[in-house]
Amino acid sequence: MLSQKPNPSLKLSDSIDSMHGVGDKTASAFKARGIKSIRDLLFYLPNRHEDYSVITPINRLRPGRVTIRAVLKQSTIRRGRRGLSITEAIASDTSGSVRVVWFNQPYRLNNIRGGHEYFLSGDFKLGHKQLALINPYTEIVSDLPVNSARIIPIYPETKVLNSAMIRRAMIAALPLGVKIKDYCPRWLVQELKLMTLNRAITQMHYPESEYKLNSASCRLQFDELFPILLANELSRKQRELAKTLKVPFKVEIAKEFVSRLPFKLTDDQRKIIWQIYMDMQGKVPMNRLVEGDVGSGKTVVAVMAAVMAVSEGYKIAFMAPTELLAVQHATTIKRLLEPLGLVDHLVLLTGSMKNKNKRSAIDRANKTNGAFIVGTHSLLTSGIDWKDLALVIIDEQHRFGVDQRQQLQKSAGYLPHCLSITATPIPRSLALTIFNDLELSRLVDLPQGRRPIKSFLTTPSDLPAFFKYLTEQLSNGRQAYVVCPYIQSKTDHDQLSVESVYAMYQKKLPKYRVGLIHGQLSAEQQQSVMHSFIKGEIAVLVATTVIEVGVDVANASVMAIYGPERFGLAQLHQLRGRIGRGEYESHCYLILSDSLEPSHRLRQFINTENGFVLSELDLALRGPGAIYGKLQHGKTTVRLMNLDNQKVVELAKRGAISFLNRHENVLNYPSLAKRVKLAQQLTYLN
Ligand code: ADP
Ligand code: MG
Repeated sequence: MLSQKPNPSLKLSDSIDSMHGVGDKTASAFKARGIKSIRDLLFYLPNRHEDYSVITPINRLRPGRVTIRAVLKQSTIRRGRRGLSITEAIASDTSGSVRVVWFNQPYRLNNIRGGHEYFLSGDFKLGHKQLALINPYTEIVSDLPVNSARIIPIYPETKVLNSAMIRRAMIAALPLGVKIKDYCPRWLVQELKLMTLNRAITQMHYPESEYKLNSASCRLQFDELFPILLANELSRKQRELAKTLKVPFKVEIAKEFVSRLPFKLTDDQRKIIWQIYMDMQGKVPMNRLVEGDVGSGKTVVAVMAAVMAVSEGYKIAFMAPTELLAVQHATTIKRLLEPLGLVDHLVLLTGSMKNKNKRSAIDRANKTNGAFIVGTHSLLTSGIDWKDLALVIIDEQHRFGVDQRQQLQKSAGYLPHCLSITATPIPRSLALTIFNDLELSRLVDLPQGRRPIKSFLTTPSDLPAFFKYLTEQLSNGRQAYVVCPYIQSKTDHDQLSVESVYAMYQKKLPKYRVGLIHGQLSAEQQQSVMHSFIKGEIAVLVATTVIEVGVDVANASVMAIYGPERFGLAQLHQLRGRIGRGEYESHCYLILSDSLEPSHRLRQFINTENGFVLSELDLALRGPGAIYGKLQHGKTTVRLMNLDNQKVVELAKRGAISFLNRHENVLNYPSLAKRVKLAQQLTYLN
């Protein structure tokens, strides 16, 4: 079908305006979307397709999406209500005639030429009491239709860039598709019977058949998945070959720890700590992720693992995502170490400490036999001697970054055991594919005596009742979090930024101190605000998601979340986990911007308390791209991937294994290596 010959002088890297038929206006509209070169354009993929490939004789038309091949007669234009322009014509083929109507497309009248045959593709449906072809794509019959009479691509549109414009440019660019180089080794493409990349791109835009479209989509999904799985296999192999420090399991140490706890471990906690002890005894470095809701007791498990290594005289590093959390963790850890007589082993090192204190912390870390070192990720570059490091614990990150791992391996001479703990659960299918290099442990059962958090949807008309409840709670001495999606307002009417909400709460609650925290404040500023909140001096804390992880204030029992539509379910759940941490009944309010019917998603959220269930819902409703895609500074690497497509998942797994079995070096394939490198940087979900 695509009979055009490529213009031999054009290159993929040429600017899109160098193509015939792409004018200045179209070019600048594309450029505004970041599409500059012909290559960019070819990789601008449609969201979906509409199949107009079957041409129906007019006398056989049935309501629905149809294509006819007909001549047009008796075209007229008139004004409808509210200035609507209505262009009408009669389309005829040898079998019969049908009315065609275009709304608000007055130019149609001049463009219709008598005596020419047209393809008309659109909806055949009821219009003004009579079946008609409504707003069809219309083009003169040719071998190479762009908008009709085939499977046509529907692109993500903008105000200035509509699908028809994109299609016109795409048709001009497609012949250059043959110049796209495959990043995947040719033997692998053949072995897996994949469509080649250049063919897949061409077929993705204008597929010759449904079957070829599926093959093309399969190939492009493979491209998103394969580098990730290959990265995992490579790091798994590296890990299996690496040396580590064996931490022998000593039952008396575990028993002593448990006997000093003021509570009984849950069954899940027991099971997981046992797995960790077994891992740490082995000669292969551990790579385990413990997932569990906020308050499910992950920290206790991690500390119990650490104590085994510390007792053996080894160092352990506990890294939190922020200084504030590092400080809080140190307090918790101290409480757990005290009854064991191990407090002297604890070293806290943070960036904002005075130089003198930093130096003495580093000194203690180096000199203590069995140091329990707590800090942020900057620990790694702090100048601590990592000899004897047996275990790294990473809080709120799914995996330890490859670069950090290599850095440690270089300075320690071996790879320490690695334990990640997180409250953001990984949906099952993501865990089995994208995170398949990790051993997973889930803390499902919560410690006894937790009070469930009640959640509510609050429309503007419910706001007075919400404020009444809030002031009641505040006057009882409780505290509240108010979470907003943005720091600054995007428009004048925007009520969703911490700025505007902070101002509003100060006005509404003159008797109480309202605090403000967000990521643009310095670490010291954040810490001082947080301390005032922890001490109870601040009653209401207006915040962005910086409070998402770890912060523990048992007296806070109310949370309001503005713009809840802007958060993922797993993220909302994590935010909600900030309350309900003490003895008080706790309420979470999702403050909706309008009184329209709230989304299915948000209704699910208020009815579900289980974070694992919510993460599965997130995946089902938003797809892996939304959960996993926006890494790399917002550059989407995952867009088409559908993990329910078992065929693609299988192909990508087979590909990764094949690659390793052939002892291929990724570096021999530079563009594959680049993708693998990108995949290795994916350490957490967004
Ligand atoms: P997470 O790190 O998962 O948020 P923590 O380990 O900090 O959870 O535990 C939250 C709180 O619950 C802490 O105060 C901890 O002492 C307590 N806790 C942990 N495990 C249990 C348990 N099995 N029974 C009762 N309380 C527990
Ligand atoms: Mg925690």
